[in-house]
Amino acid sequence: MTDEAYSELREFLDRFPVGFPGTSSGVDIKILKRLFTEEEARAAVLLTPFPESASRIAERTGADPERLAELLGSMSTRGLVFRVRRAGEALYSSAPFMIGLYEYSVNNLDSELAALYREYYKTAYMEEMGASDVQGYKVVPVAEYVESETVLLPFMDLTEQVRSARRISVAECIYRKEAQLLGEGCDYPLETCLSFGAAAEYYIENGMGREISSEEAVRILYDADRAGLVHAGTKTRHLSNIYNCCPCCCASMKGITTRGHDKHRYLNSLFEAVVDGSSCTGCGECVERCPVGALTRGDRAAVDRDQCLGCGLCAGSVPRKRLS
Ligand code: SF4
Ligand code: SF4
Repeated sequence: MTDEAYSELREFLDRFPVGFPGTSSGVDIKILKRLFTEEEARAAVLLTPFPESASRIAERTGADPERLAELLGSMSTRGLVFRVRRAGEALYSSAPFMIGLYEYSVNNLDSELAALYREYYKTAYMEEMGASDVQGYKVVPVAEYVESETVLLPFMDLTEQVRSARRISVAECIYRKEAQLLGEGCDYPLETCLSFGAAAEYYIENGMGREISSEEAVRILYDADRAGLVHAGTKTRHLSNIYNCCPCCCASMKGITTRGHDKHRYLNSLFEAVVDGSSCTGCGECVERCPVGALTRGDRAAVDRDQCLGCGLCAGSVPRKRLS
């Protein structure tokens, strides 16, 4: 067996906006070998980002239609390709490394794979994310923390979006799971990754997450908020995922907190914190709550606007609404 199929798959994955760069250590290929058989690696590169039936992909690429349908069906249950169902027919599209192969490997994650991911982040992927101009997420605080005069557009209101979702799933946070397997980790809650609609169906059907009601999803959101996690929604028109991110394990947050990368490389901040100078006593509670060190204590707290994510966690430390 040669590495040709895996090298081709690596190059294919590297064409996504946030790619999958090669490394001199070859850890990128080791990860792909853990996830894909050689035949699966050859099948994965036949797909496009647009959902297509197995027969259509076979017609377009000259692959054997029956074998391809079998392969894609099996690969989709392990998170190697994305699958949606339309009118009962399974349609497949390619999954990037992130959001995709990495998150969907949550059930197969063991200490060996966790160590490979960790090595890859350190040697190549953190820089790839930091160099990208693609902000994968928008940070949305719970509405109670937003100044009451601010008109919230539907995509800014987390609980409203959660309540209007067709189906909802919750899965474990793979970053915190990975850290735990490597003997690190933190005390933040683990089962916090919410998916909605077609993304939720994918998680539920493949056993990567469990189906929950909108009430439970809202409860998870508020528990995450109390725990000090940042709510990061995917920047899609219809919300497909909300991740609840900690500053210590999440790759995007670590890019900001440990590598000093510009927040705009990772996140779109819709809001920013404003200190009410007339009532601030300088108690410093908000400074403790801020996950990125955007607040400093003094006679009054001060916000570094370049650092602030607009997550609203600081507002949770005081009883009044503070974001605008
Ligand atoms: S929590 Fe922050 S903004 Fe509120 S009084 Fe204390 S220092 Fe001031
Ligand atoms: S100051 Fe810190 S806690 Fe407050 S909204 Fe900005 S990033 Fe979040």
